[in-house]
Amino acid sequence: MAQEIYGIDLGTTNSCIAIINPADGQPQVINNQSNLQTTPSVVFYDEYDTPIVGTDAKNSMKQDPMRAVAFIKREMSNKNYKRSIGNEEISPVKISALILKKLVDDANLAREYEGKAPIHKAVITVPAYFGNDEHVLTRQAGEVAGLEVIGLLNEPTAAALSYGKDTFEGRTIMVYDLGGGTFDVSIIRMRNGNLETLSTDGDHHLGGVDWDERIVDVALAIEGFEVAYADIKDKKEGGAMILEAEACKKQLSTQPKAPMRFRYGGKLHTVEISQSSFKELTADLLDRTIACTHHAINLIKEDVKIDEIILVGGSSRMPMVKERLMKEFPNIKIRLDRFEPDLAVAKGAALYAANTSVIDDKSARSYGILTTDGITNILLRTDPMVYNGTTGFLTASDNQTSAIVQVYENSSSEGTIPVSAGVLILKKELTWGKQVPKGTPVTARVSRGKDGIVHIAMECEGSSTQIEIQPERQLSDSEVKKLKDEFQDIVL
Ligand code: AMP
Repeated sequence: MAQEIYGIDLGTTNSCIAIINPADGQPQVINNQSNLQTTPSVVFYDEYDTPIVGTDAKNSMKQDPMRAVAFIKREMSNKNYKRSIGNEEISPVKISALILKKLVDDANLAREYEGKAPIHKAVITVPAYFGNDEHVLTRQAGEVAGLEVIGLLNEPTAAALSYGKDTFEGRTIMVYDLGGGTFDVSIIRMRNGNLETLSTDGDHHLGGVDWDERIVDVALAIEGFEVAYADIKDKKEGGAMILEAEACKKQLSTQPKAPMRFRYGGKLHTVEISQSSFKELTADLLDRTIACTHHAINLIKEDVKIDEIILVGGSSRMPMVKERLMKEFPNIKIRLDRFEPDLAVAKGAALYAANTSVIDDKSARSYGILTTDGITNILLRTDPMVYNGTTGFLTASDNQTSAIVQVYENSSSEGTIPVSAGVLILKKELTWGKQVPKGTPVTARVSRGKDGIVHIAMECEGSSTQIEIQPERQLSDSEVKKLKDEFQDIVL
């Protein structure tokens, strides 16, 4: 029997865990201990600084937003993130690990009831625009949670896979993923059983919560308050209002009008919001997603025709999303069968875990070396995830005995770009010891495995230097072990 591996959608707002059902080979979501298919990605620290994860945490957040952590995935790439609650130092890795642990503990408990052995292996999904940093940190969060992380998989790829690996044979699809806190668009092509990502784009500060905030703002304005959500978000009233707004928004997905009930200034208020005014109020947010879709299309260098659009992410349930896409792309079919925007990613990850050979995935970053022409990319965002390549350079001046290799991360798909378009992430010296004439060849060998970690070997005159692109905030092995030991005793 194939080994059992969980597929985990570690989402910005909600997370989900799935596994292949051995009876029919189909992916199946495992409900959490509250019997829900998805678990809010929220951690709340109670008065003893004990963490609570999921629905209870989301509900407690209403009472005391300052003791809650939500949308931590948005902070995965934030080098300056610093927060503490009580005596607890919060980090994106730690919070993500708590969410992962909750998902896996709940799933293993469900298995225990059925007399099945626990599982500690997982494929975890990541947004397509996560770079190397975030890949490594997500993997470490898995390790801290006691998991063996078999692989990381791009969310849109997972979503496409959830339709079955043969569904899109010979077709090119756009995956439009509007979640709670992130927007992600990818264009994917399935050819000869290989799923290839042609381009990705996204905005990791755009999601359902922005729609919720608009409802809070308009409700406050209608009732004559001169404050906005941004002013009250850390207060109890703000914490409660954003949840009321979310409930109102969800009702507006199926009803022409919905009430927004809230308490502010010591009084209860009710404001009626109509679907049409909500649509108007948030049109600019939807426009931002459409701009990303066009950017993703323009990134593709070859001439491709998009056959279908699939919708992913809970916020795709808003009717305005489908309407707008139909208007924008009248000739592309929007696929709405198996419409499970909240479960598709976890299910696809479970399928991927069962058959890892079908993917040709991509990260959204390019990596280049500083030369006299600017940054010369040696690994492009349009290159496959699993990649091996060589680029030749020449020494810049006579009698050089060494060179400083400067690696830049960027999001361009061009071979050579100006220095201003990249971010310096690493500097290392390559020394070959003897003086060589200007124009002596220097070779850069670059490789990237399924884990997304980039290795570069720079060579000149038989000497080489190895570069591994490691995130700045990566935890040391001993830090991972320490946290892992601590986490073992936590009951969530
Ligand atoms: P995800 O991150 O994919 O779980 O998406 C979560 C987001 O989807 C949250 O902002 C939810 O408020 C939103 N969402 C879930 N269901 C609906 C619905 N029926 N209508 C509108 N938004 C929804």
